Amino acid sequence: MHPTTQLLQEARDKVTFPIQDLTKLIYGNEEIYETFMKAQKIIASEPSIRNHPDYHNWGRKEQIIKSYEKLRIMHQHFNLANAAHWTPILSLFQGTTPSAVSFGMTVPALRFLGTDEQFNLWGPKFLTMEIVAAYAQTEIGHGSDVQNLETTATYDSQSNDFILHTPSVSAVKFWPGELGFLSNYALVYAKLIFNGKNKGVHPFMVQIRDNSTHKPLKGVVVGDIGPKLGYSTKDNGFLAFENYRIPLNSLLARYVRIENGQFSRHGNEKISYASMMVSRQLIIFIYPRMAAQSLTVAIRYSITRQQFTNDKGIENSVLEYQTQQDKLLPRLATCYGMIFAGLRIAELVDDNFHRVQKKDFSTLQQSHAILSALKAWSSQWVVDTAEWCRLSCGGHGFAHYSGIPAIYFDTAPNVTLEGENQVMYLQVARYLLKVLQYVEKNPEKVPFYFNFVLHIKETLANQSTDFGQLLKLTLTLQLISVAKKIKDSMGTGKNFQQIWNEVVGVQLLSVAQRYAEYFTYLVFQEYISNANPQVKEILQQLCDLYSLQVILDNPNTLIESGRINVEQFKQLNETKIELLNKLKPQALGLVEAFNFSDNALRTCIGCHDGKPYEYIYEWATKENSVNIKGVPQAVNDLMGTKIKARL
Ligand SMILES: Cc1cc2nc3c(=O)[nH]c(=O)nc-3n(C[C@H](O)[C@H](O)[C@H](O)COP(=O)(O)OP(=O)(O)OC[C@H]3O[C@@H](n4cnc5c(N)ncnc54)[C@H](O)[C@@H]3O)c2cc1C
Repeated sequence: MHPTTQLLQEARDKVTFPIQDLTKLIYGNEEIYETFMKAQKIIASEPSIRNHPDYHNWGRKEQIIKSYEKLRIMHQHFNLANAAHWTPILSLFQGTTPSAVSFGMTVPALRFLGTDEQFNLWGPKFLTMEIVAAYAQTEIGHGSDVQNLETTATYDSQSNDFILHTPSVSAVKFWPGELGFLSNYALVYAKLIFNGKNKGVHPFMVQIRDNSTHKPLKGVVVGDIGPKLGYSTKDNGFLAFENYRIPLNSLLARYVRIENGQFSRHGNEKISYASMMVSRQLIIFIYPRMAAQSLTVAIRYSITRQQFTNDKGIENSVLEYQTQQDKLLPRLATCYGMIFAGLRIAELVDDNFHRVQKKDFSTLQQSHAILSALKAWSSQWVVDTAEWCRLSCGGHGFAHYSGIPAIYFDTAPNVTLEGENQVMYLQVARYLLKVLQYVEKNPEKVPFYFNFVLHIKETLANQSTDFGQLLKLTLTLQLISVAKKIKDSMGTGKNFQQIWNEVVGVQLLSVAQRYAEYFTYLVFQEYISNANPQVKEILQQLCDLYSLQVILDNPNTLIESGRINVEQFKQLNETKIELLNKLKPQALGLVEAFNFSDNALRTCIGCHDGKPYEYIYEWATKENSVNIKGVPQAVNDLMGTKIKARL
């Protein structure tokens, strides 16, 4: 057997748990898993859409067109209107997926904010990809602060329609994905001006390009915003309107309407959260799976990569080094926690949608808070994990051929888009403080995943160093502390908003992140209790390592409160080392449970048969178009000129 293949095989032989049982847990249900496996096969076997080693040498336009072609072909094999078909596929492509904004943002907004007639008018065309529709909210001047968007939609009572207008440069829509050139429609958020009065920001479904020529319609200025940090296949765009008339029916009218010349509101305005929930839920569901891809590459490579000889004269696999395990195994443990959190959140969001459709808004705010916390926490974690995986692969990790750099920059935007992370955390903190207020007068209002606030006294009195207990204690202490600081600051001459922005901002972010970590712990425990006996032990070890790493990353609260002394802290560090030792032989099985094909990993250093060096050399020499096509004549001429000049 090839020597590095042998190393991987030996590592596989050491795995002691049934891998397929974890696979079932990871994918949640058969339909998702089967779609995922089928999609991997199709992508790898159809030459026109196969992930290509030379992809990162291609120009941006070529990448975008190829990406769109891939999606169209996948659309012939799967019903992409069905999220169970669509979501598992997203992590398998080179480049971000065109139409993800249309499916993930515009369609849900249309479903929740439009009437049934409006959905039936546009929805089917968007879902079959006959038309792509951008989600145009952000402007050059404002993103997070939606209420201060400047685009206006002025109702004209004479013609019973709206005039859409961009009054300044800062009002130009900027950043929406698929706006650059794919979309024919955009869901435009604009200030509705009715009888001279500002009625707030509302969504309007607007045609921006001709359906047959694909040219911008008169009064519409639209285009691509240019290159970004990665994200090359996404045509993020700009959009401005010059007194552009749109029909009355453009206003999504489930909750606001203009009828017979009268403006009226209906139902609960908080519904607007609901449409953003789909895309945030997707971020939590999909992207930790891309972190799992980078971990698969890094762990396989770390087994096959050998550096320095041991006392028996044998070279060590770099995964044998404790420091390498420390880079990768706590992240692997956290990855499992995030995958489970993503699955649970999908259920919570689904339940919330069913309620909302029956006009029951009771779970809306808690779902929003959980989603916001996990969106913020997981998106940053995924990017950090890709970076650590890259570092753990040394020089070869830096090459696109490793597959890891693209994961880094294709996931980096998630920290900012769909709600900038810190802004999300602040909303979570606001909800946590609200839930804290329920304790005295309305304890029955405290939702299940927030019921730690009902046990504050017991938590503070509990002296256990159980990891879950320590996570709960940290969260509780931070929440009490920030609530107290806000209360104490009220007498200092500052108003609430000033205190929020200037006095407690950092603490608010911290408590919100602690909540995300604690929620993940709770869900992890639920999965362990429901798991079959063969995988309970490995899951418990992963959960322990996850929790311990979280505690060790942020021990300040426990130390400052005197709840952990130096000896206990040392012991926690020792326990972590023991867990690294236990999990190291299982690491390969834990990443291979995700079952990514080599083509889906887009790697030459983390393949299943473990021959990194052969593939690196093969890709560099045989797949690299820079070598195949040769250096352009202009470079030769230039070099010649310089040499002559020096002489
Ligand atoms: C790749 C990509 C794709 C995108 N796709 C779309 C799309 O399809 N449709 C669309 O409409 N938009 C899209 N956007 C825009 C995106 O939604 C916004 O950029 C995002 O919401 C952040 O808003 P902002 O740019 O205004 O950041 P800002 O809010 O200006 O953030 C700048 C800084 O200010 C801080 N900050 C802001 N407010 C507060 C506060 N209240 N308290 C404390 N700190 C604060 C932030 O934490 C951040 O550090 C996309 C953006 C990117 C990068």
